[in-house]
Amino acid sequence: MKKFMIFATALGSLLITPPLLAQEQDNKVRAKEIKDGIYVIQGRGGNIGLSVGDDGAFMIDDKFAPMADNIKAKVAEISPGTSIEFVLNTHWHRDHTGGNESFHSDGSVIVSHENVRKRLESGGAINFFNAEVPPANPGALPMITFTKNMSFHMNGQQLDIMMVGSGHAHTDGDSVVFFSPANIVHTGDLYFNGFYPFIDPDNGGSVTGVVEAVDEILSKIDDDTIVIPGHGPLSNKSELTAYRDMLSIVAENISSLKAEGKSVDEIIATKPTADFDEAWGGGFIKPDSWVKLVTPML
Ligand SMILES: [Zn+2]
Repeated sequence: MKKFMIFATALGSLLITPPLLAQEQDNKVRAKEIKDGIYVIQGRGGNIGLSVGDDGAFMIDDKFAPMADNIKAKVAEISPGTSIEFVLNTHWHRDHTGGNESFHSDGSVIVSHENVRKRLESGGAINFFNAEVPPANPGALPMITFTKNMSFHMNGQQLDIMMVGSGHAHTDGDSVVFFSPANIVHTGDLYFNGFYPFIDPDNGGSVTGVVEAVDEILSKIDDDTIVIPGHGPLSNKSELTAYRDMLSIVAENISSLKAEGKSVDEIIATKPTADFDEAWGGGFIKPDSWVKLVTPML
């Protein structure tokens, strides 16, 4: 019996472990220069924006904790000997802040909106993922926080960091970074390029708030702006506009169904996203669960 159990466990491991392990260990990152010493670093987790030059490196977001060494190696490959002076967290989710403690211990100063620090410090529930995020270690907490906006002047660029819209969008602590004169914007998770976005209502998020925030971003960019989304490939103003319109139309569809007195399940059954599912429904949140996520926000 014991032997059988060991065999069964080994078989179970064979069947189950390899793909899980492969997923867990996919910590590789790749970098692409956008222009003028400004890069995007991609891989699992949120897109990293990076400015390198004589003043050192400024990095936007730091992915999941186990990826920190690969990110450091990539920055060293891009710009040998450059120290990462600052890391901005666009919001508190761990696919954007997981490396904080590691970068802080190397001397980087972590910067964020004050609500990011509060949420990292307290931890909290993210019910859509059945997740209870524990409080972050003190070394992972941002040392500099701001309430509305701040600017950095590095490597020949002005980096304007600001909370846009009402302050309730993907979360209640979202930052957007505008690079000038490079004409690049990093949107954080206000923009998921190519798929329905996660929005975090347990931590101050709102779908109409995302629409407002994206409207403000659109008002500050032009047809030549390169848009680094929180997730997905590099983008531009016209694609971001299509994303904004999709969110707005679906929110209106759901609002009017709610006004008719329909329940969440009845609203899901009417397929209020149908016109958009081919373009946006193939991501990690499928149409029905996305409708379930956003309906209570409206
Ligand atoms: Zn996020």
